[in-house]
Amino acid sequence: MPDQCPLCHLSVTPKDQGVSISFESGGWPCVERLLQCPNQKCNRLFIARYFRSQPQTVVYFLRSCVPVELKVVQQSATILRVSPDFCSIYQDAHKAEQHGLLLVAGPGYRKALEFLIKDYIIGQLKEPDPEKLAADKATVEKTLLGTCIKTYVKSEQIKEIAKRAAWLGNDETHYVRKWEDKDLKDLKKLISLTLHWIEIETLTLEVIADMPEGKV
Ligand SMILES: [Zn+2]
Repeated sequence: MPDQCPLCHLSVTPKDQGVSISFESGGWPCVERLLQCPNQKCNRLFIARYFRSQPQTVVYFLRSCVPVELKVVQQSATILRVSPDFCSIYQDAHKAEQHGLLLVAGPGYRKALEFLIKDYIIGQLKEPDPEKLAADKATVEKTLLGTCIKTYVKSEQIKEIAKRAAWLGNDETHYVRKWEDKDLKDLKKLISLTLHWIEIETLTLEVIADMPEGKV
């Protein structure tokens, strides 16, 4: 029995609707079974697909549930402000990952990371002259991600985490993989840490700007 609804993604014990059929897929015996999500807010029907584990046995194992509704990653309001492009690209990479398209999800996460770091750096530029500011912005946009992190990121924590995220991110796009023992999960963990550091720093600066002095 599946332990999660493919539509609302809650952990549930689905209700068996007592309808199932047997069929063959590529000469392999399969069963489809109609289930219903018990979550009152969802309540929807879905199909669990089972494949026989060995041709000579009658043991079937759960292969997949259909249809699937993709999970949406909600970024915080702070991160949405820092880099709306990061949020959109991350969302697309996450959709690709859920479709099992891991070879394009990795470069997608790498691209999202680049937008996050560069937008964060651009947001930190303090140049009063608009022309100079535009020139500084263009320089950041053209600079390689690793160099950007080294040159512009002031916070040591963000620098250290972002640097490592970029190492793994580059592995997703380069022909030769350097970090063979690391995968998409590690890259996502580092992106998530980078996000949290940026969020903490941005919120801290906002609070300090909002309450600059103590009251007597
Ligand atoms: Zn559900």
